Amino acid sequence: MDTKLPRVGTTIFTVMSQLAMEHKAINLGQGFPDFPPPEPMIEALARAARDGRNQYSPMAGIPELREAITAKLEACYGARIDPGAHVTVTSGGSEAIFDAVHAVVRPGDEVVLLDPCYDCYEPAVELAGGVPVHVALDPATFAVDWQAVEAAITPRTRMLFINTPHNPSGAVLGESDITALHGLLERHPRLLLLSDEVYEHMVFDGARHESVLRHPALAARSFAVSSFGKTYHCTGWKLGYAVAPAALSTEFRKVHQYNTFCSFTPAQYAVAHMLREHADHHEELPAFYQAKRDAFRAMLGDTRLRPLPVSGGYFQLVDYSEVSDLDDASFCRWITTEHGVAAIPLSPFYRHPPQGQRLARLCFAKDSATLEAAVARLAKL
Ligand code: PMP
Ligand code: GLN
Repeated sequence: MDTKLPRVGTTIFTVMSQLAMEHKAINLGQGFPDFPPPEPMIEALARAARDGRNQYSPMAGIPELREAITAKLEACYGARIDPGAHVTVTSGGSEAIFDAVHAVVRPGDEVVLLDPCYDCYEPAVELAGGVPVHVALDPATFAVDWQAVEAAITPRTRMLFINTPHNPSGAVLGESDITALHGLLERHPRLLLLSDEVYEHMVFDGARHESVLRHPALAARSFAVSSFGKTYHCTGWKLGYAVAPAALSTEFRKVHQYNTFCSFTPAQYAVAHMLREHADHHEELPAFYQAKRDAFRAMLGDTRLRPLPVSGGYFQLVDYSEVSDLDDASFCRWITTEHGVAAIPLSPFYRHPPQGQRLARLCFAKDSATLEAAVARLAKL
């Protein structure tokens, strides 16, 4: 068959979770917490459903949620946002990314992706008829090489994807990256940003999250995307949003309204309740996840896996070259099937995976008991 996405198979997250299930492995592969969402949010969800909030919601999201998002973004980033014109609630960050790309990328437009990157970016671009242009992050630090980005930009470039904190590496963008972005947008007036900030509340060691929404000149040219699945430990609720200037939001909503129209109504009420009544939840997340990162890295000292630095997000990359010379896909299958711990290989995050890279991604959004049990198995490698 003449397929539209010839390079795409089933996502690595689905493949590895399925394999983990078949082999009863501890799943540190696909990124999701194994602890529950906050109880008040579950209660608010049930209450919304009981109170009859079960039909279509307004296309852009319920006003209560858009207002609560606006208040939070103002408090976190000093952003000045109009909930009516700038915020659109979506079915997860994934839908927001898809809608943003389809709203502005025309056939033949180039979109710069920084490899390694999350696997839904490239297919969204290709389905819109866009041309993905891959630029490598620094192989050692996963920092952005801004000269390489500049060199990749042509008159056809419509969009640049950034992702901070970064999946899979855990790198975060800093002040010098923000300066570089300002220069880039000034020099390339047609360029827009897709800023994937789904891990915005998991930034460690006292660093601050560099949302594009902190910087008016960047916000004026960006879709900023986030996901309540990450912030509230409920990846299966599939609720997120995009913030963009009015003109971009208008185009975004043209796609959103014919893609999903609206997102799961009871969850919108539940998240609005959390944002209004339990704002301290997201304020506590950096310390909560930093403690998990530190505990997990300390445990990995008992293994021959070498942990790379992690500044944000909930993934830990490990170099397994002391243990095995298998390629990353084979290594991750092997530890899943033979050692009972599922991990994610890095190669699916690249258009051209670096030869000889021996890295696997482990998710530490897990209870201590889960991490301890997994490391006890990994220590035998
Ligand atoms: N971007 C990144 C970097 C992610 O890791 C994920 C993971 N799920 C998403 C976007 C999509 O978010 P959601 O699950 O809310 O669709
Ligand atoms: N974002 C998750 C990860 O990186 C995967 C989400 C999914 O499977 N769609 O593990």
